[in-house]
Amino acid sequence: MYVYGMDEKTLGEIAQTVGVNLHHIRKEGRALRFTLLPASAKFRPRDKKGRKMNKVCFHGYTKFYEAVFRVQPEARIRTAVEDYKGVADFKARNAQVALVLRGPDEREYAKTCDCHRARPLL
Ligand SMILES: [Zn+2]
Repeated sequence: MYVYGMDEKTLGEIAQTVGVNLHHIRKEGRALRFTLLPASAKFRPRDKKGRKMNKVCFHGYTKFYEAVFRVQPEARIRTAVEDYKGVADFKARNAQVALVLRGPDEREYAKTCDCHRARPLL
């Protein structure tokens, strides 16, 4: 993803707080570009055989976005799926993106990671 309006140190601290890693972070134009990866068993979706995958689930991404916008409400976060320009834009559209990603059956979606066992889904 690309994040505009933040420095690397602050993003690193946010990632640590949330429990994710910033993989291969580098400057690209005015943005910082990196991949979000799990830092532990937390926020790891499972494949069809139930094995944990080395990627971050939707909940982990959402927690990370919320934390970024808490620190810098004017930040811009651009991913393959979304382009959030500030906290108001994020709040207005994130629930809709969640619905598209998880599909109509929330219970099926919840099985793809363990987050629902720790707290209510979304
Ligand atoms: Zn999850």
